[in-house]
Amino acid sequence: MEIIDVDPGDMRVAGKGCRVVRVRISSSVSFDTPVRPISVSETTAKDYLGYRGVIESQIAAMPIDLQSNNGFERFLAQNGFIHENQLTLQSFVDRNHGKPCFPILQLPSLDYSNRVPFKIAFEMQKDVDGLSMMCMPEIDQQFSDYGEAVEDWCSSCEEFGRIGVPQLSLSDEPSVFARRLRTLCDLSKTGQVPMINIRYSPRSTIQLSELWNMKGEIDALINCSEVPSTTNRMVVNGVERDVEYELLSHGFDSITRKKRKVNRKFMASRNFSDPPTSLDKIDKFKVATHQASVAIKGDVWRHMEHAPHCSCPVCRGNSRSELIDRFAYKDNGELDQSGMRYFARLHDHQSDNLELGILKRHIFERSIGEYESRLEDNLKKIVNDTE
Ligand SMILES: [Zn+2]
Repeated sequence: MEIIDVDPGDMRVAGKGCRVVRVRISSSVSFDTPVRPISVSETTAKDYLGYRGVIESQIAAMPIDLQSNNGFERFLAQNGFIHENQLTLQSFVDRNHGKPCFPILQLPSLDYSNRVPFKIAFEMQKDVDGLSMMCMPEIDQQFSDYGEAVEDWCSSCEEFGRIGVPQLSLSDEPSVFARRLRTLCDLSKTGQVPMINIRYSPRSTIQLSELWNMKGEIDALINCSEVPSTTNRMVVNGVERDVEYELLSHGFDSITRKKRKVNRKFMASRNFSDPPTSLDKIDKFKVATHQASVAIKGDVWRHMEHAPHCSCPVCRGNSRSELIDRFAYKDNGELDQSGMRYFARLHDHQSDNLELGILKRHIFERSIGEYESRLEDNLKKIVNDTE
């Protein structure tokens, strides 16, 4: 993978120009950002729904939760836990054969003077066949030789024909964040770091400004991970602002969501419980509406007079009641506890890709102002409908 071209977008202080990065996969295959990688949450939703359509995506990402439910202790113990995660990663890579695939290790930031966890992370990814990128765990902010550590990781990956992906966090101290981002920027110019992952954190205005400031120089694809589907910032009751456009307009090229481990006991008990008796009792879900940069809570969406239409490959322009018929019920007519939640997930990804196509066109045509008016107009319609 190689970055062949960077268009920094609008760099005026008032500018909100997202950037475009051209990523070359091979001599004949390349794509432009912004993109939304396909991830394990979409493949899970696809399997659950028995959805047969192709999920379009040029790149695949797999967040791996190595933290919750004592995950980190189990990671360090190097027992079956590593192997289990390795197998899941392997099957994800196999399934996305032909696409560049990057794992995102959800780990605490680590003290680099103890290399053991880094070694474990390296070995775990090294043995996965066909994996193109290897994620470096986040390094503790106190550590000063960040550049050296990243170069070590990336050159070790290169020995196995892989690309090393260093990580930062938007929650890093602004001065540390700026310094480390500068280091990664320099390494991106030599081709050593063609991809960077930055973990999302709210209230990170200064860090985002640093990224915005360097976006014209960084020759790497920059993914933002653990991005929530909404931010709890309500526009009106039940309509929450989405953070994706804001991230893209500061220089991110793609976003991925957080992976949360599901409690197995809970799932098992759920599988044996009686089906829900009304739509009010199914799993909560939110319908992403990227053309207005918001998500609408399922209960509100169900009662809107004119729920927004979507022409993504999952919705296929169906009306709301057609979508509920398709996804909320099982073949035997019983209500499906999770059908709408999985539908919402798949639609989120697919409609996002459609919207990013429109955004891309506006970036190329230097008409971001028009794009923002489009978001506002669409939002007005939704707000009117929920009032
Ligand atoms: Zn849709």
